[in-house]
Amino acid sequence: MNPRLALAVIAGRTAALVSRRLGRGGGTALPGLVAERVHPGLVRDLARQLGAGRVMITGTNGKTTTARILAQILEEAERPYVHNREGSNLMRGLASTLLAIAGRAGNIPGARQMTGLFEVDEATTPAASAAIAPNAIAFTNLFRDQLDRYGEVDTVAGFWRDALARAPKSATLVINADDPSVAELAVGWPGPIHWFGLDDPAFATDHPGAVDARWCRECGGTFEYERRYFAHIGHWRCTGCGRARARTDTTIRDVRLGLDDATFTVDGLGEVTMPLTGAYNVYNAAAAVGLARMLGVPGEAIRKGIAGVRAAFGRQEVADLEGRKVRLLLTKNPAGANQVLRLLAAVAEQPEVGKLKVAVLLNDRFADGQDVSWTWDVDYELLRGSVHTCWAGGDRAEDMALRLKYAGWPAPGAVVQNPSTLLDGILAETEPGDQVFVIPTYTAMLDLRAELQRRGAVGQFWERDE
Ligand SMILES: [Zn+2]
Repeated sequence: MNPRLALAVIAGRTAALVSRRLGRGGGTALPGLVAERVHPGLVRDLARQLGAGRVMITGTNGKTTTARILAQILEEAERPYVHNREGSNLMRGLASTLLAIAGRAGNIPGARQMTGLFEVDEATTPAASAAIAPNAIAFTNLFRDQLDRYGEVDTVAGFWRDALARAPKSATLVINADDPSVAELAVGWPGPIHWFGLDDPAFATDHPGAVDARWCRECGGTFEYERRYFAHIGHWRCTGCGRARARTDTTIRDVRLGLDDATFTVDGLGEVTMPLTGAYNVYNAAAAVGLARMLGVPGEAIRKGIAGVRAAFGRQEVADLEGRKVRLLLTKNPAGANQVLRLLAAVAEQPEVGKLKVAVLLNDRFADGQDVSWTWDVDYELLRGSVHTCWAGGDRAEDMALRLKYAGWPAPGAVVQNPSTLLDGILAETEPGDQVFVIPTYTAMLDLRAELQRRGAVGQFWERDE
């Protein structure tokens, strides 16, 4: 065995132990960080032992959910796998994940039968690709993220092309055919490609929400759409060079979105109901099916995996606030926010639901995006006329209230930064049995959730790497 690797494993384990002794609960990155200092080839030497497939998943939205659905599918197929959890998708996170299952000399017991499931941050894909040598890489979608994180989408596309240059040329690319920005990654790829997408004319919309301007990288032409599902996702074609959406290998049809679940048909698998909702999650399921098929998982396990997945922490969570059903609908960027609004607009049309009670929480800390001008790219107008009562919260509650005013929403019942005061405001204007939708940015969700937990409205459930 490699003595350097063995030394790195010992160093990483010691760091994990010390971190635990110091009571640093969330110190997931530390062991990996320390071990990688000792041996920079750590991830490579550990990951490449995994003999049943190494899968890398990346994209602006859907990395975590796609990985979770695939993990559930592997669970149903009774196939051992290792999976880095949300929030540990940088190299040190991958290192920590692998360290946790490595034996003392740096060999992973049972590695030959094990699948590696790695969700990877966009900027980390080049390094991860070189280290992991993936057999399959899934690209979910490419959207403008929080404005100040990676800059423009071209920066991210650049990371991904770099990642492909470092990946084995035999790797299967599992690509969203409906997103022209990720579809172009297929141009010139010498290895196999598995396309996934949605074929559902009834799901198309004339109101796609915020659409970033997109140009064909091949010719600079513009895209036209035969059908648009949301934003720039749909059945597209370049008006310049004629490049167009590919025929899909995994196809989803007949999508029906509920408040808590989505029912759809997967070609070859039949109808399935997934306990997650939103168009994004339907695409995440399609990506997971494509990956599972590439790994040779039987159809029955794929069906069961989709049906058995659970929502990730802070997404689609329901709290019980003194009898009010408070639904948290986390949004991380304009496209995600538009998805939530579209879902709520559909919900408001159901006669038994009617007009909605909605709180929108805006923070501007690093993880939220420090420039809140992105709220002007979000179509809060979709809910004009559908809102009964609203509240504006978060550090930038006043900005949010202004945005909602322009969107034609009623005047907020409260405009408050403090999450506790906000909850009191919600309680004052609602009755037990009411349903309240909360649309928070990431850190606003954390703040509100902490307050809900303090009031016993949510469980201690805190799904994190530990
Ligand atoms: Zn073109």
